Amino acid sequence: MTKKGFNTTNLHSDRRDQPEHGVLHKAIHPSVAYGYEDARELAEVFQGKRAGYNYGRQLNPTVTALQNRITAMEEGIATAAFATGMAAIASTLLSLLKQGDHIVSSAYLFGNTNSFFGTLQNLGIEVSFVDATDVNQVKAALKENTRLVFVETIANPVTQIADLRAIGVLCKVENLIYCVDNTMTSPHLFLPKSVDASFSVNSLTKYIGGHGNALGGAITDTGLYDWSRFGNISDSYKNQDPELWGITQIKKKGLRDMGASLGPEAAHHLAVGSETLSLRMEQACKNAQAVAEFCQQHSKVKQVYYPGLANHPQHARAAQLFKGFGAIMSIDLVEGVDCFDVLNAMDNIVASSNLGDTRTLAIPVAHTIYYEMGAARRASMGIADSMIRLSIGIEEIDDLLTDFEQALA
Ligand SMILES: *Cc1c(COP(=O)(O)O)cnc(C)c1O
Repeated sequence: MTKKGFNTTNLHSDRRDQPEHGVLHKAIHPSVAYGYEDARELAEVFQGKRAGYNYGRQLNPTVTALQNRITAMEEGIATAAFATGMAAIASTLLSLLKQGDHIVSSAYLFGNTNSFFGTLQNLGIEVSFVDATDVNQVKAALKENTRLVFVETIANPVTQIADLRAIGVLCKVENLIYCVDNTMTSPHLFLPKSVDASFSVNSLTKYIGGHGNALGGAITDTGLYDWSRFGNISDSYKNQDPELWGITQIKKKGLRDMGASLGPEAAHHLAVGSETLSLRMEQACKNAQAVAEFCQQHSKVKQVYYPGLANHPQHARAAQLFKGFGAIMSIDLVEGVDCFDVLNAMDNIVASSNLGDTRTLAIPVAHTIYYEMGAARRASMGIADSMIRLSIGIEEIDDLLTDFEQALA
């Protein structure tokens, strides 16, 4: 069978699973419990000897259908979906790591991931933050007890791009779990599997859902990590193919025990949203390039951070790795121009904290999402007080440019 395209596979995913009445969308299944005619079958489901549903916190048919779509998009082997992106990240790391383990993380991180890594440190898991745009910094931070490396594809809000391929090679050589947060690029622009990642993380809330109407998160196992060489897998999960040990432990420890499960209604919204991921992403990337070029030549803008600009430090890397430069950028305003005044003068562009929406959203990052970490850490991440992060949407480009023109005036 020839391999089908990204969109074709996704659009026909639910239907291939022989749903009731030939429905084209997987039904929203609200049931928490599942009844069995033969109680022995129920026992076999609990014992993992038979596929089936036992309780809604662990599994739900609507959520399973979404997991299958994401696995296909990421070309992975299995996906665990969670209530939010943060739940996916937290549950995964808490499932796989133990006190005394060490991880290396990019210093350029989504704010709440950064904060969660502080919690890991409180629990006795060491975290080294390094400049992951340079593989040598990652390499220099490795220790005897290093288990995992965590990076983002395009980092918030300064858009640094980790040395994704070289870190993949390093993790392979050193037998480390390589976790890549693919939220900013989405599987339309980039497959972490292509750089030897063990896991791809997606906040489904962002580009995959794409409409700002449902929260969700997912972790996809690419199938590339050899779990038989990982010391932290519980013996209870070793009675199956080693390929599945990692995701099984995440589903049992992270999803079942920690309980941040995705609901079926949200799963339905996210699945419908995912059907237009490619179209939205293409339009948003095109708009973002035009906005970045406009802002770059504007006298009130001091600096534009966008991987699509030739002067971006990792422009060549982004061009080589990604199918597009994404739709997230930040701008620094010149001295004397107040970011709040600019935001308040926007007409279509919404002052809002989300990203990956169909609408263009803008936020003064130092005063909001990066407020809690304090001035010193902000400075180390290159976040200026006047910085505005933009998540470019799919509006007509002329309307966006008109908005920037009048708001900056
Ligand atoms: C938003 C985001 C998350 C967290 O996702 P939620 O669904 O909001 O919990 C994680 N990583 C990145 C890069 C994000 O942008």
